[in-house]
Amino acid sequence: MTMTPDQLADSILDGREITEAEALALLATPDAELLDLVSAGSRLRRRHFGMTIKLNYLVNLKSGMCPESCTYCSQSLGSKAEILKYSWLSTEEAMDQASMGIGGGASRVCLVASGRGPSRRDVGRVGEIVERLKGENPEVEVCACLGILKDGQAEALKEAGADAYNHNINTAESFHDNIVKTHSYEDRTNTVELAKSAGLSPCSGLIVGLGESDEQIIEALFALRGLDSESIPINFLVPFDGTPLEGRWNLTPTQCMKIVATARFVCPDREIRLAGGREIHLKSLQPMALHLANSIFLGDYLTAEGQAAADDLAMIRDNGFTILGQDESAVRSEDTDTPTAEDADHSDPVIRRRGAGTTQVANV
Ligand code: SF4
Repeated sequence: MTMTPDQLADSILDGREITEAEALALLATPDAELLDLVSAGSRLRRRHFGMTIKLNYLVNLKSGMCPESCTYCSQSLGSKAEILKYSWLSTEEAMDQASMGIGGGASRVCLVASGRGPSRRDVGRVGEIVERLKGENPEVEVCACLGILKDGQAEALKEAGADAYNHNINTAESFHDNIVKTHSYEDRTNTVELAKSAGLSPCSGLIVGLGESDEQIIEALFALRGLDSESIPINFLVPFDGTPLEGRWNLTPTQCMKIVATARFVCPDREIRLAGGREIHLKSLQPMALHLANSIFLGDYLTAEGQAAADDLAMIRDNGFTILGQDESAVRSEDTDTPTAEDADHSDPVIRRRGAGTTQVANV
């Protein structure tokens, strides 16, 4: 007999792991039953993360001009997307950018650079930024994302003070070669393993909407679980004009919700982060997705703008969540203080001066 999402959540809370077949069935939940799925998934989220949201802040240290052929990426040399292109930020510039994110409430700063992988010199310059950042903000986690690592580089970053290393698997092994030819799936998983063995917290996630099947989404989620990825960013394809995947709008908001929910069931105790494309794909379901994911990027992405940081913060507050690191008493607890009506931001009502009783066009 098939279990309902709630029964499945019960069994996971009792220590059982979901099977691939069960996960595939969750992904196929009818839209009319979406709330049941979210409600069940939110129990797993609250068990491990309470009502907290972790804010992450991206600093793009080096943008564009990448020799790799990732079809989804606006930073690839083959891409004609009109993104910002620049070489390495100075340490001062990187510190200024990171400080803005920390000031906005971020508890993790992600230092990202385009390219196949770092040179020795690159690791040295990122190491310098990491040292400064950790020296001035010891409570903030620093994650580096510099591409494919060579032996010894993860150790050098760890020694500089980095907490984590991000390298997304992006998609299922069985689909990987459809999206990039210049490196292999194994190159990606090797880097995650190198980061792990150097003592860095592995951060690895997905991009969905590339044309992969539901089975391949499940394959990728189980692979991330097997890799022990401690934080799992879920990116929703942003099909930039000028990239090979231009115009590929394969996702609907409800499908995105089901993917995030399924990720929560497969990896109940891992940080699940709504990443690039959340605003344009989840649309008005973004707040509901916070009941499943426990982490988001604050502000802008690497090459695309995100929604205003103030709107992110309002969305978190309005839905009863707290920001990790801002209210320690609420961390990993379901007993968050409920904000009072007086705490909320209020805007004055706008008197209607259009539609019935006026000569102005109605609001339709
Ligand atoms: S390696 Fe990274 S920066 Fe380069 S094209 Fe691929 S995703 Fe983009």
